[in-house]
Amino acid sequence: MDTHDPNTLPQPAPAEAPIAADEATDRRMMERAIELAGAAARGDEVPVGAVIYRGADLIAEAHNLRECASDPTAHAEILALRLAAGELGTWRLSDCSMAVTLEPCVMCAGAVVNSRLGRLVYGAADPKAGAVESLYQICADTRLNHRPLVVGGLMADPCGQILRDFFKERRSPGP
Ligand SMILES: [Zn+2]
Repeated sequence: MDTHDPNTLPQPAPAEAPIAADEATDRRMMERAIELAGAAARGDEVPVGAVIYRGADLIAEAHNLRECASDPTAHAEILALRLAAGELGTWRLSDCSMAVTLEPCVMCAGAVVNSRLGRLVYGAADPKAGAVESLYQICADTRLNHRPLVVGGLMADPCGQILRDFFKERRSPGP
């Protein structure tokens, strides 16, 4: 009988090993991202925080700095990706996860794909600008060459509340 040893046949390129999910670590990292969002609010920045971690190790953290930096690209995710790449000495972050308090926008979802980030964990959905699930599904688009694992809605309530509080305070008249 003519049998083919599957090991001699051309094999598809191995997928990058997925990062094991660890909800306790995700929650701890999201708690830190929420703290960073709070720091952003105190600096009069829209409160979004992001941390990047590998296993249980925090690699980089940032919050939105668009106003302070007068930089339209200074979203928490972009800043955290830059810091993590610098810290690790590589742009390729396939063994890292990011926890971010708000669903990433088009720019940040694009940066997540371009960094080959292994996992993306986000808190509140953003129906007005979210590009992971709400308006676009950039991180699941099979036309692009990388798709991170995505966990949406982790601790969505506290992540969203800090944004609601921020905008409510800005709308209310001063004392
Ligand atoms: Zn963004």
